[in-house]
Amino acid sequence: MKTPGLSKSRIAAWRQCPRKLWLQVHRPDLLDVSEEAERGHQIGYEVAEVARSLFPNGVLIEGEADLQSALDATRSAMQQFPDRPLYEATFQHDNILVQADLLLPSPTGYRMVEVKSSASVKPHHLDDCALQAWVIRQNGVSLSAVELAHINTDFVYQGNGDYQGLLQHAPLDTDVGPMLESVVHWVDQARLVLQGTEPATATGAQCDDPVECPFNSHCSVAATEETPEPDYTLDVLPRMRSALKDELRAQGVFDALLVPEEHLNDVQLRVQECSRTGQMWLSDAGARVLEALPYPRYYLDFETIKLAVPRWANTSPHRTQVPFQWSCHTEEKSGELRHAMFLDVTGDDPRRPFAQSLVDMVGDTGPILVYFQAFEKSRIGELAALYPDLAERLEAINDRVIDLLPLTRDSYYHPHMHGSWSIKAVLPTIAPDLDYGQIAVSNGTAAQTAYAEIVHPATTAARRELLTEGLREYCMLDTLAMVRLAHFLSETTSWRYFLSDLDKECGTFSQDTQEGALLYRAAELLRERCRLADNRVITDPIAWLQRKLRTGYSRTQALVAELEASSVLSPAAQRTQAEF
Ligand code: SF4
Repeated sequence: MKTPGLSKSRIAAWRQCPRKLWLQVHRPDLLDVSEEAERGHQIGYEVAEVARSLFPNGVLIEGEADLQSALDATRSAMQQFPDRPLYEATFQHDNILVQADLLLPSPTGYRMVEVKSSASVKPHHLDDCALQAWVIRQNGVSLSAVELAHINTDFVYQGNGDYQGLLQHAPLDTDVGPMLESVVHWVDQARLVLQGTEPATATGAQCDDPVECPFNSHCSVAATEETPEPDYTLDVLPRMRSALKDELRAQGVFDALLVPEEHLNDVQLRVQECSRTGQMWLSDAGARVLEALPYPRYYLDFETIKLAVPRWANTSPHRTQVPFQWSCHTEEKSGELRHAMFLDVTGDDPRRPFAQSLVDMVGDTGPILVYFQAFEKSRIGELAALYPDLAERLEAINDRVIDLLPLTRDSYYHPHMHGSWSIKAVLPTIAPDLDYGQIAVSNGTAAQTAYAEIVHPATTAARRELLTEGLREYCMLDTLAMVRLAHFLSETTSWRYFLSDLDKECGTFSQDTQEGALLYRAAELLRERCRLADNRVITDPIAWLQRKLRTGYSRTQALVAELEASSVLSPAAQRTQAEF
């Protein structure tokens, strides 16, 4: 069988993992490219285009119809235009194909420039450069320098189309020189892999380093079939040190349930206990904070984008987070819920209208609930620095922010969260009817990709419309999720906390009155229920009772009827148990 040819990307795959190379060549059908990786590729193309514009009047070796045409076009361009830059110059040696991002003529040969969208030189970039330089030199081309052009994050775009300074050129001759001898060895080893059967490389640290491997699903499934994974791996134990995990695995401990207690902190112990029992854990910490919050309450979420190639004035690559969308649910004391949103898809700098509409929306009073406050507060702080006339009102927003994330972390855990308190991990356990999987834009990376595509001039109107709708649904769902979470935490409280309140409420009524008798009966039934049920976690029955007690006699009466008729858990609680 003829050994398939090699290329820069194939050698890079082999350097990461021999199995990745084998799969890339023999089983491309198993590729599962993440949205993040797709976005990375898109960014790479944008940066390459800018790099060319910085060295104008070059000759582009187009993706020719066949390899030979590209090789011929390169040779001819070098002969015809020796003083002009070459873009994507194509070379082959010993059945290894490379394309140089930039070849820049100089008095002593060509400067070979590899262009990357990262903010610094990474070790795997050196591999790329070494292979490329080796192949080009084997073609008899003299290279005066080997450089890597990466993003200069100190660059501040002035908004005039001038990207001089966006790329920083790092000279790599000293690093790459000693590696050239190794290239032949890499090529031999890679060919051996391609001639054999699928390597049995085990999954490990290399699967995400230096890049996320697109065969993760395939290898993980295969590994699970060979050695079934426990339901709760060590990764569910929050913030456990990697060194400790490695130590435990070396001792044969792969199951979070088998980790000795002395290695675990309080949170990890709780996660272990919930995983073991299959029970959720709940405390009243969140309920106590939420109960004290006045109305109206605002539930707020931002979507932002960070660009490698800045689009708007006064922004820096990879650094400036430009907010382009907010979603806000406003909740009144009556329970009325209103939704408002800002989304700018014009392609103009969205920050000023974003900031203006935000201060207008949230007014001057009322708590503003977010999930992971560092993100929203930082963006608001940046907008305040940018627009002095809005600074006071923006800073006032930050003073009103309440972070739901720590409240949730301190109040709630469900074994299906697998050690994560991200809203997307929490939501299915409290509101399975809200499903991100059903919408076109389902996570933050997808939202950035969608926005970048919407504002790209080549995007069709129909596609723009579809993506805009996806963004609307996604951001709206994020804030609705927060509303549901706040309700869940508020309405769900431990019985110890609730009973003391209930006793106080009972104290305000005489048992001789109709209302008093009813409340005492409710309390009695509730105590009985708490005695029978697991007293650490009682959710729906108590929340329901609490609400009913506050909303009138006839409803409380209905509750008592239900309590008397039902078994230990209410129908709602039974449903919840059945779901999980
Ligand atoms: S997932 Fe890991 S083991 Fe599998 S091919 Fe990729 S890097 Fe290799």
